[in-house]
Amino acid sequence: MASNRRAFLTATAVGALATVPAAAAPAVTEPPLSDPRTALAELLAGNHRYATGRSRHPHEGDRLRHTLAGSQHPFAVIVGCIDSRVPPELIFDQGLGDLLCIRTAGQVLDEAVLASVQYGVEELRIPLVLVLGHERCGAVAATLEHLRTGAPVPGHLNLLVDEITPSARRTRALPGDWAEHTMTAHTRWVRDAIRADSAFAGSTVLAARFDLDTGRVTLLP
Ligand SMILES: [Zn+2]
Repeated sequence: MASNRRAFLTATAVGALATVPAAAAPAVTEPPLSDPRTALAELLAGNHRYATGRSRHPHEGDRLRHTLAGSQHPFAVIVGCIDSRVPPELIFDQGLGDLLCIRTAGQVLDEAVLASVQYGVEELRIPLVLVLGHERCGAVAATLEHLRTGAPVPGHLNLLVDEITPSARRTRALPGDWAEHTMTAHTRWVRDAIRADSAFAGSTVLAARFDLDTGRVTLLP
C-alpha cells in the first residue's frame, strides 16, 4: 500500500506541483527550517506568542505571496481537527507558506489524510509532523454520546465514531474526565499509527494537545 501511494504521488500532477525548479522562484526571505527540533521550537515559540497575546501575524502580504507563487517550503505538517477554534496558522502564529495543514473532525485518519501527510514529508521534505488534539472536541463528544446512549450515528459521522471509539473504550474506566482521556488517547493513537506506517519511516511524528481556555499547546508523551 505504501509503495502504491508513493508511486501515485510521484506519477501524478500532485508530485509535479512540488517540482517547480527552485531557481525559477524568487529568493525566499528566510531559510527553510529543515530539522524537526528547530521546526518544533518555531511552532512552540509561535504558540507562546499567541497564548500571551503577542502574535506577530508573520508572513503575510503581497511580496511574500508573489515569492511563494514559485515554490513553497512549509516546515511542519499539522494533522488537526476542523474545529473553528483551533486554526493552526493562528494558534502557532504562522503565515503563508509555513504550515501544511490537514484537518478532519477529531483528526481522524483515512487514506486521503495519509496521502496528504506523505505529500508533505516526501515531496516537500517537511521535517516535522504534529498531530494536534484539543479539549472539548465535538467528534469526541459525539463518540461518547453514542457509547453512553447507544443512539444511532447519522450518516458519514459513523467514520468519526468508529475511529475514536477504541480510545474511548480503553479510557472509560479511568478516573476523571472521560472526554479528555479519550481525546488524549486518540491523538496519541493517530500519532502512533502514522509512526508505524512504513511510508513515514524516518519521519519525526509528535502529538500535542491544544487548550481552548489558555490557548496553549502542550506536547503529549
Ligand atoms: Zn475537534
